[in-house]
Parts: sequence; C-alpha cells; structure tokens
Amino acid sequence: MKNKADEIIVGGTSIAPGQRQVIDIPVAPMYTHDDLSITIQAIRGKQPGPTLFISAAIHGDEINGVEIIRRLLQQKALNSLRGTLLAIPIVNVYGFLNHTRYLPDGRDLNRSFPGSDKGSLTGRVAHTFVREVLSKCTHGIDLHTGSRHRSNYPQIRADLDNDITREMTEAFGVPLAIDSKIRDGSLRQCAADLGVPVILYEAGEALRFEEMHIRAGVRGIINVMRNIGMLRKTQRRKPMAPPIISDKTSWVRAPESGILRTLVPLGAQVSRGQTLAVVADPLGVAETEITAPDEGMVIGRTNLPLVYEGDATFHIAQYGRKVTTVERHVEQFQEEHQPEPTLEDPGDPSTAPIT
Ligand SMILES: [Zn+2]
Repeated sequence: MKNKADEIIVGGTSIAPGQRQVIDIPVAPMYTHDDLSITIQAIRGKQPGPTLFISAAIHGDEINGVEIIRRLLQQKALNSLRGTLLAIPIVNVYGFLNHTRYLPDGRDLNRSFPGSDKGSLTGRVAHTFVREVLSKCTHGIDLHTGSRHRSNYPQIRADLDNDITREMTEAFGVPLAIDSKIRDGSLRQCAADLGVPVILYEAGEALRFEEMHIRAGVRGIINVMRNIGMLRKTQRRKPMAPPIISDKTSWVRAPESGILRTLVPLGAQVSRGQTLAVVADPLGVAETEITAPDEGMVIGRTNLPLVYEGDATFHIAQYGRKVTTVERHVEQFQEEHQPEPTLEDPGDPSTAPIT
C-alpha cells in the first residue's frame, strides 16, 4: 500500500522509489513570452532516508557549485542512495544567463527569502524554491563562491549551535568553519525558521572554476551524505580533522588608493602586525603596507590589484583562542584535493569516482 506521507512530489511530479527525474519548474514568464524554469534533478533511492537539496548559483555568477553538482550527479555511489537527493545546479537562472549575482529587478535572491507569490520576480523565485524544494527537505547544502574579483578559501558557514548543522559541518571536511547566525533573508535563515538544517559551502571566485575547490565540494557533499545515512560509510584513508571554528571574521581595508601587491595566499595563517600586502602609487613613489590587525586565517582575498582607499582586501577569520593546528589542517586539505595531473595521465576529474 502506498502511503501518502511517503510520496515525494516536486513541481507536480511524483518521484517513485528508484527513480531519477529531471523536473522543470516554471518561475515566471519572461517578456519575450517564454517561461523561464528552474531545473531540478531528483534522485530517489529504493530505500527510505533523508531528503537533501544541493543548490548552486543562488547568486547567478557563482558557478563553482554548478560544476560541483554536475560531477556529483555522475557518482556511481548514487545508485545505492537512501532517501532523496534534489539537485538544483542553477537556482538564479536569470543571473546565471547574464553573469550577474542579481535578478533583473536588481534584488539579491539570498536576501529575499522566504519571498512571496505576489512579490516582484526575486521574491517569487524565492517563494517557488521554498515551496517546491526547501519545504520538502530534511537537510540542505547551499553552494557559493566569493564575489567578482574575490576568492574565498573553502569554508563552511553554518549555525554551529544546532547539533545537526554542526555534524554536517564536521563531516564535510574543510579546515575552517564559520559559526554564523544570520537574520538577513537568506536561504539559510529561512531554512532555520522552517527547522531544516542547511550548511553553506563557500569556495573560490565568481565566474571561475577552481579545480581544488570543486573536488573538495564534491567530496564534502558525499561525506555529508554518508554522515546523514544517505550513502554507505566507507573507511577513509585519513579522515579530515574537525574544522577549526571561527565566530569572528573581519575585512582588512586598503589604507590608500593604489596598486595592490598581495604577499600572503588564501589559507595562510597570519599573525598580528604581519604585512599582508603593499599599496603603491603607479610610479612607486609612495608605498603603504597593509598589516593584519589580529592573528587568524586568510579566508578571503581580492584578486584585483587595483584598490581605492577603504576597499576590502583580506578577509581574516579569528579563532578566539590560540590555535596551533591551522597549517596542519590546511596542508592535509591541500594534499587531499590538490589536482596533480601528469603529461602521461592528465586524468579526467569530471568522472573520477569519489572513494
Ligand atoms: Zn553567494
């Protein structure tokens, strides 16, 4: 007997156990007459289990996550899935088409949740996502990158007071996690209000693919799926140490306008007073150092070597207490995910199974 409560319906389509379906959910007609749809791939395992969504490109120009989802969907491990995976590689289709963070009404989707079916376009997209995806899920992972010209070191942002999001964060396997409670209309806040634990993976720069960050993202999602019982657990060679937790981050701003020379990479541990970069005028007459205001890890950095006074240059995460293991964490992470193609065997990272 089929129990109604067991039914999973997305966009009016019922997904039966063992099925994999592509579902297009129309959001709003464009003024060219065509409808624009959000495409979801739904995979339901034969066995019951959690319903997990993975979303990317809520900010339309943050595309690392689109590739993470594409690779995730090729994983053979999904054949033995328990529960249901809803993969939404491009939530903000409008922004994705136009290489921009926003929607055509100029709004930021990740400040517009829960939205409304009577609101402007962005509010309607948010509302559709909540109705068709979020409200059907028990867990979620939202994929983001830094903004234009800014890279983020792979990190998880989550409310770590919640036991489930904390466990998901620890399972994901990044060196550093940011404990953040937000009240800003984000998907994560809306999910928290609905009681759905959601973590956010931030890695890389807008409009770029970064191989290491993509690999770490695919691996991290699979780690979480194992942790919440959607995939079989395997003995990993070397489990990642639990992430260092930061509850305070701050941007270091340019003291002058000029040409910026950065001296420390993403993931670096810096000490208070350490020189992070130098700002100089184009003739090299005047030079000003940018120094770290505190000890911490560089989790974000501008890639544009041109700054105005006050521009954000380095994003530093602080740990609150002395942590001596940052470098070890970062080293282990790099070793695990850094691609090492050779001329003889360039490999095909897009189809390599995660073991
Ligand atoms: Zn984003």
